[in-house]
Amino acid sequence: MTKEIQSDFEKQLAELSRQGRSREIVLLRDDLADFASNDYLGLARNKEIIDAARQAISKHGTGARASRLLGGGAALDRQAEEALADWLGAEAALLFATGFQANLGLLTALVQRGDVLFSDQLNHASLIDAARLAGGRCVVFAHNDCQDLEARLAGASAARRRWVVSEGVFSMDGDLAPLVEISRLCKKYDAGLLVDEAHAAGVVGPAGAGAWAAALAEGAEASVLVARTVPCGKALGAQGGFVAGSRALIEVLLTTARSFVFSTGVAPAISGALVAAIALARDADGQREALHARARELAQAVGLEAPAAAILPILVGESAAALDLAEKAQAAGFEVRAVRPPTVPAGSARLRIVLHAFNSRTEVARLAQHIGASHASQAQPKTPSRKPLVVVGTDTDIGKTVVSALFVRAAASIGEVCYWKPVQTGSDSDTETVRRLCADSGAVFKDPHYSFPLPASPHEAAEDAGAHILPGALEEDLSALQESFEGEVVVELAGGLCVPYDERETQADFLARQQPRIVLVARAGLGTLNHTLLTLEALRARKLEPLALVLVGDEHPSNSSTLRRMGGVRQVFEVPFFDPLSKEALDEWLAFSNLAGVFDA
Ligand code: PMP
Repeated sequence: MTKEIQSDFEKQLAELSRQGRSREIVLLRDDLADFASNDYLGLARNKEIIDAARQAISKHGTGARASRLLGGGAALDRQAEEALADWLGAEAALLFATGFQANLGLLTALVQRGDVLFSDQLNHASLIDAARLAGGRCVVFAHNDCQDLEARLAGASAARRRWVVSEGVFSMDGDLAPLVEISRLCKKYDAGLLVDEAHAAGVVGPAGAGAWAAALAEGAEASVLVARTVPCGKALGAQGGFVAGSRALIEVLLTTARSFVFSTGVAPAISGALVAAIALARDADGQREALHARARELAQAVGLEAPAAAILPILVGESAAALDLAEKAQAAGFEVRAVRPPTVPAGSARLRIVLHAFNSRTEVARLAQHIGASHASQAQPKTPSRKPLVVVGTDTDIGKTVVSALFVRAAASIGEVCYWKPVQTGSDSDTETVRRLCADSGAVFKDPHYSFPLPASPHEAAEDAGAHILPGALEEDLSALQESFEGEVVVELAGGLCVPYDERETQADFLARQQPRIVLVARAGLGTLNHTLLTLEALRARKLEPLALVLVGDEHPSNSSTLRRMGGVRQVFEVPFFDPLSKEALDEWLAFSNLAGVFDA
């Protein structure tokens, strides 16, 4: 058995390597000029803080010895929490072992069954995973798009509670969340606001108190804020993660946030360092000015807009090109890192340049010169690869697989195409059917990520097989596929649009995040008007506009004309039941239709 498990690992590693997604742990190089670490103010090497950590170790030892609720930790923890709360202007704070745990504890404690959590599309993995573990439903809104957020909030009036969660400064794009506007929407729709200040604390806002403090100074609606998290491995140069909020919130968290309750307190060296670091970060206006001046200089020199905080992404496109540029920057003396999918969306690999208070003007000017030269000669920003074409249905068993085969054959007549059915339920394999119908076309086939024998909804079939569907894993697969495959990607979903992947997430939610090109397949005959119009409404509620509607079955002229008029879809195709179902029959139909035109829409 263990042999089989080892061989699974090896297969997985080979597949990751094939997809260009292998990772390794590489230390930041101290001999290079640092344009990569999150040590924005240089506090990770600050002597005063090192001394404070040393003293804490001498006095309290190296470990907290137990969970805080069982007496672990030191009085320094409380001091650090009070210092943080005072800095941020909050009543109280609680220190978790990491920022990840702080987000996890906060969201799982607050968001209950019956609640809806609205989460920015580019939020950090810790917020995404926390949302998955939390009791309520998670709705993703388009990045920094208040119109989209408002439309979604307006549709959730029946929820027990509404919550909005956003990073203050986004970690991979470096932009600020529009917190003033978001706070007004929270007020209008009676929602509580949660802000992750990981890349904002110490860098923006009065006295570096973060993005919410900056928004308050610009007239944000103070009453809506419920909590902020402050991961401490960035500007504070240490480790751990605070949640700051009202005293009552903190009391609730310390008994209900499982990642606090069931985790050992932070090492005394950490809380000792944090007490000193908070005082220094608060008092670091001079360093912040220097950091922002360097960021402006670099942005101007490479022709980009000055970033709001310390992160300047330089979009490259392909992962290999971004890695190559990072390597060249390192060879020229600059510690610069490439960020690639799945951390960022497919086709948007980038150099993530981080400015620090300690970067000198000359260093920045030399880096700008280096980037100017190598970027121009090596890699022009590339338009991200085309979105996949996703075939969704109004129901199960209505002909999605045959329609997918038609699209695969149509695409194969123009260029390369890959077919993928992410989740297969039941013993009949749709991949095999499409493979059989397209065997001669040159199309390639990616195997399903999940295959379950029970012919049921994905969540039920998974449960029956003792498994869980992880939508994040499907997202990663799709990103990797788009990264590694140049041609068209045709994805066939399971069952009808809104079937669940798990207790909280449906296929429609998955699509809302991906925003792919959509083709809707519906039956031609009786019952189609209601199903099709409702499915179109559900798609549009998620900002998904189908490129085409395909009606499958015996001709029903009044249905197709009603749907043409009332459905508002650009193109409507009518596909008969093929008998026999063969590639010749598909080609005959394709010869008289312009299905391939959908790819150009
Ligand atoms: N939130 C954001 C926005 C982050 O960037 C990070 C760390 N990359 C975290 C939370 C997690 O913090 P930690 O590293 O302390 O677990």
